[in-house]
Amino acid sequence: ILEKLAKAEKLQIVSHLAASISHEVRNPLTVTRGYIQMLQEEVSSQTKVKYANIALRELDRATEVINDYLTFAATTPENKEHLRVSDEIQHAVNIIKPLANMNGINIKLSLLEDDAYYIIGERKKFQQCLFNILKNGIESMQVNGELYIHLIHHAPTLQIKIQDKGVGMTKEQISRLGEPYFTTEEKGTGLGMMVSYSIIKSMNGTISVSSVKGKGTCFCIKLPIHKNESDRLKN
Ligand code: ADP
Ligand code: MG
Repeated sequence: ILEKLAKAEKLQIVSHLAASISHEVRNPLTVTRGYIQMLQEEVSSQTKVKYANIALRELDRATEVINDYLTFAATTPENKEHLRVSDEIQHAVNIIKPLANMNGINIKLSLLEDDAYYIIGERKKFQQCLFNILKNGIESMQVNGELYIHLIHHAPTLQIKIQDKGVGMTKEQISRLGEPYFTTEEKGTGLGMMVSYSIIKSMNGTISVSSVKGKGTCFCIKLPIHKNESDRLKN
């Protein structure tokens, strides 16, 4: 229960943060601008390299913030619609494939035999959520790692399990997961999981995590089933 309360608090922060996303991008851009400006002054070549590195690092940060927040941002207000879960997962996997290949990670997908299950939500938001979790899984592993995705029917919910055999997390890390800016990565934003939690909450679902340091992590997204194919055909 305590953990649930903490999550609720985190989600409150989310709505504030969502409104200030422009600051999240503007800050590193401002820093970048400052350092580029200083490059125009007469400084030693050693200092130049230092300034250039800071500018690049800050630009990368702006990119990462955009990746975690806005990769699938809708240009127009999106409506909630019926989403066929297996299609959405397949789509997310197609999008993340290049990153997986670049990192030498194999994605093992197991969808349901009878996979005509529907959930309700905004497609792009759901894609962003899957993207952020898949990306973390990929980043947690070394070359030749395997990322497993299972779709499980467990009425009245659908469960999407995303499992890696990567670095895993300590209890402390798990408890801080989803907290804004909590990151252990050098280039991390600490925004990806926060965004994922808030999206799944907006879909009346939950995300649970089990993780063992040094062994791996499994995220389980549970979402209410809204309709299945046979219902849909009846209508
Ligand atoms: P970021 O990826 O930018 O660090 P996230 O919000 O996506 O931010 O994740 C926050 C932190 O949670 C990560 O820095 C990492 O410590 C931990 N984490 C998330 N997913 C995993 C995973 N699959 N394996 C290990 N650690 C993870
Ligand atoms: Mg991340």
